[in-house]
Amino acid sequence: MGKTYFCDYCGRSFQDNLHNRKKHLQGVQHQRAKKFWFDSFRDSATILAEELAKKPCRKFLQSGQCDFGANCKFSHMTDDDVQKLRQKVEEENKLEHDDRPAPNIDEWLAKRAKRKENNSHISGLEVEKEIDDDPVVYWLPPGYHAVHELPPSLHPPPPGGWKSALNIEWG
Ligand SMILES: [Zn+2]
Ligand SMILES: [Zn+2]
Repeated sequence: MGKTYFCDYCGRSFQDNLHNRKKHLQGVQHQRAKKFWFDSFRDSATILAEELAKKPCRKFLQSGQCDFGANCKFSHMTDDDVQKLRQKVEEENKLEHDDRPAPNIDEWLAKRAKRKENNSHISGLEVEKEIDDDPVVYWLPPGYHAVHELPPSLHPPPPGGWKSALNIEWG
């Protein structure tokens, strides 16, 4: 059995050989997925402004293909893509103007010190445990991916470790 190549950007796997890999990595789908992934670390508003400043790539929009791929100086975004990006910008703006108070380390430490004082009769370990019962409210900054959205290679191992670890063939 041949090895399988899994593309994190596209979430696709295929039999790994030079031909398949080259074909996949040069494919429009892959380049779009890759650009999309890296763009996700940038501010959507910046991307939108950049894309709107570019002229549409006629070749790409007509044939769905362009030799310049993600490096094309013209925009490869369809109206649909632009629409989606606009939505994302709006969502990010909403998050930015979110008036929930940011988690504050000083407050947390003050609370912790107070509890420690109150519970000075019990051991330090127990105090920590009690503090951990505090519901922690947090959210990811805009543009950050939740763990389940990360590519499989960045997922934490399941409790107890990977099952297939013994069957790995190197080379
Ligand atoms: Zn790919
Ligand atoms: Zn192009």
